[in-house]
Amino acid sequence: MLIGTPRETREGEARVGMTPDTAQALQKLGHGCAIETGAGNRAGFSDDAYRAAGVTIVPDAATLYTVADVIAKVRPPEPAEVERLRAGQTLISFFYPGQNGELLELARSKGVNVIAMDMVPRISRAQKMDALSSMANIAGYRAVIEAGNNFGRFFTGQVTAAGKVPPAKVLVIGAGVAGLAAIGVATSLGAQTYAFDVRPEVAEQIESMGAEFVYLDFAGDQQDGAATGGYAAPSSPEFREKQLARFRELAPQIDIVITTALIPGRDAPKLWLADMVAAMNSGSVIVDLAAERGGNCDLTVADQRVVSDNGVIIIGYTDFPSRMAAQSSTLYATNIRHMIADLTPGKDGKIVHNMEDDVIRGATVTFDGAITYPPPPPKIA
Ligand code: NAD
Repeated sequence: MLIGTPRETREGEARVGMTPDTAQALQKLGHGCAIETGAGNRAGFSDDAYRAAGVTIVPDAATLYTVADVIAKVRPPEPAEVERLRAGQTLISFFYPGQNGELLELARSKGVNVIAMDMVPRISRAQKMDALSSMANIAGYRAVIEAGNNFGRFFTGQVTAAGKVPPAKVLVIGAGVAGLAAIGVATSLGAQTYAFDVRPEVAEQIESMGAEFVYLDFAGDQQDGAATGGYAAPSSPEFREKQLARFRELAPQIDIVITTALIPGRDAPKLWLADMVAAMNSGSVIVDLAAERGGNCDLTVADQRVVSDNGVIIIGYTDFPSRMAAQSSTLYATNIRHMIADLTPGKDGKIVHNMEDDVIRGATVTFDGAITYPPPPPKIA
């Protein structure tokens, strides 16, 4: 089959769904590879690099969509991109079917088989295809770099001839994939790092990374908000009050807050309120990784850097992975390459879309003219 990768059409998106390395791996599975000219430029991969890796360069998107059997890209397609697809073609990209009902119906009506990279089940066998985790890891890393870039002081404490400098105090709220990545970077830069999560099971991970878990005095237990499946559920009002009271205590001492708290299927919980921002010192920084889902901080504006009246910088960028496009394309394209490897069991260039396979079934949102979202729960843990 011919795997084709177009240029991303969304303004500012620098990632690409295929790299020269993944193209070579796909060819070993018996596939051909093509890209739209310039597709990798913004991620640092030139047409020449692809050509050297055996990739055909096509002059425009229209040609690419015509010649390719499988389209592999990053962002959910624009409706115009779905219109370019034909029955029997496969699209592999982020898709967010829960939020994109009309797009899903359009893809179904065109007879396109869509594999949503955001729907890969989070089971051990599928970790190599877990693009949400790959991107969350990068967002967490970049959040700390961005905070450092906006913070006018050192992260690490120093004793210098000119005086003693205390370490920066960083608080990470939400210790999922992005939060743990942020904790790792903040501690390695020498910050005194604190972290909070409603799921008490992450305390050990947080502490093993050299950060301090923020415990709550709540009926002897960290929290009552843990849900099944490793994800968080909304907290009770009593728990929330305890949590906010603890944050209020911490606010005047904390230099950098990185928030990553999300609850599947809901708007982000508001956890860093306006009065907490007001209690922080001028020059402190908040990076809100939940900005796209409404933000964890009251003052966050999605895609903006704003400064509060008391001089606190609040960063609500929603494109952190794209700001590290070489790294994120490398990881994302590798996730895609693993997905295509599972779709090519004979390593013979033939796609077998096996709907009996838990991972392929879970990620497939349209198949053979039908909507197949939401999937049944995975059988293997
Ligand atoms: P996420 O992005 O949905 O949420 C981020 C974090 O916010 C979570 O840790 C959540 O507990 C926390 N949170 C929610 N409400 C909060 C609140 N009020 N206060 C503080 N924190 C709050 O999470 P994620 O990064 O996608 O990971 C969720 C889980 O899935 C984790 O346990 C992770 O280890 C697990 N996971 C498993 C796999 C796998 O393949 N087995 C892969 C990825 C993630």
